[in-house]
Amino acid sequence: MPGSELFGAEEQKEVNDVMGTGILFRYNHDHLRNGIWKAREFEAEVKKITHAKYAHAVSSGSTAVACALAAAGIGTGDEVIVPPFTYAASVEAVLFAGAIPVFAEVDETLCLSAEGIKKVLTPKTKGICLVHMCGSMANMDEIMAIVHEHNLVLVEDAGQAFGASYKGTQVGLFGKTGCYSFDFFKIATAGEGGVMVTNDEAAYKLADSYSDHGHDHIGNNRGMEQHPIIGFNYRISELHAAIGKVQTSRVPDIIQRNNKNKKLLTELLSKKEGISFATIADPAGDSATFLNLLLPDTTTAQAIVEEFNKAGVTGFNYWYTNMYHFINQWDHIKELKTAARLPVEILGAPQDYTKLDLPKSQEVIGRLISFGIRCTWTEEEVHTLAKNIAACVEKVVVLIDS
Ligand SMILES: *Cc1c(COP(=O)(O)O)cnc(C)c1O
Repeated sequence: MPGSELFGAEEQKEVNDVMGTGILFRYNHDHLRNGIWKAREFEAEVKKITHAKYAHAVSSGSTAVACALAAAGIGTGDEVIVPPFTYAASVEAVLFAGAIPVFAEVDETLCLSAEGIKKVLTPKTKGICLVHMCGSMANMDEIMAIVHEHNLVLVEDAGQAFGASYKGTQVGLFGKTGCYSFDFFKIATAGEGGVMVTNDEAAYKLADSYSDHGHDHIGNNRGMEQHPIIGFNYRISELHAAIGKVQTSRVPDIIQRNNKNKKLLTELLSKKEGISFATIADPAGDSATFLNLLLPDTTTAQAIVEEFNKAGVTGFNYWYTNMYHFINQWDHIKELKTAARLPVEILGAPQDYTKLDLPKSQEVIGRLISFGIRCTWTEEEVHTLAKNIAACVEKVVVLIDS
């Protein structure tokens, strides 16, 4: 959790600015707010790092996905390709948009693969909700080729890859719209918050209105504003935005420190039998929030997880059995257990979600153990961790070899 590792006086100062005026609302009250506009400043910081033309801050990464989908024109009945390995919010957002998720395979990039996308394309495919996982990125050259060839709408959920880039372009800016999360577990945190980005002015305006009951945000009299579309309330508060602003400004430094620590940990582990690593489509653009180990097979990975637990090694995720990130544990989604009916239940889906056949994803995620990189690690701590990881891996790999 690098963002939350660096939390201090600057965050407090920014929050105090807001407390000083008492204007916790991001819009209007111009004469009472003493020139303090934290949501706008948060958006400016995000634009500085991503070079997005437009950035719009909202209440969470999840609502940022919802805004990104709506602003890209994805709605009821649209078939949208999604990965089985993501934070569930990406799939939930597609469902709540009224659209129909279609699951495709991920590969060793931990993201949707071009090959996986091609296999599930139909004439009814409207778009892709591409998720950049574990701090790095999908293979964008291959994915953009399919997007262009089939005229698909690309929405990028870069919820956990803020600051990562591919061949010089920030993830989130390849598609029509993109988004980032600033929840407590991300590279920068606002406490709760998200930002939608785009280079398309019309999409930005739609997201801006969608997230605030359709308001056009023209002028400074909220009661007299026009409503170009129907929207809802996905607004961020000034208090959260104040924290998000400072945390975002720390990201270039965090990425540099993460990469240094990840490079050392990778070097120390790279000659160990049995250990390989997930593919980073552009290593120069890695935000380096995770070191993703790929073990020879699922059985070996599970045995190593047991060894880690026995030895007290912490700071890793085994997503294959974790309740949040992989489809194997999403019974509620596969069985469409809803509080009230969603469009997908009436329209039907082209896949039976309880009988999905995703062998490549099962294989890759079964082999994957991800270690969170801390930007505050000392070199000595990295060496100790590497030694502990190697010892556990060795025990299992030797056992299997003999
Ligand atoms: C964290 C995350 C989200 C959701 O963000 P919240 O801010 O927690 O709502 C969405 N997508 C991905 C890929 C995430 O990692």
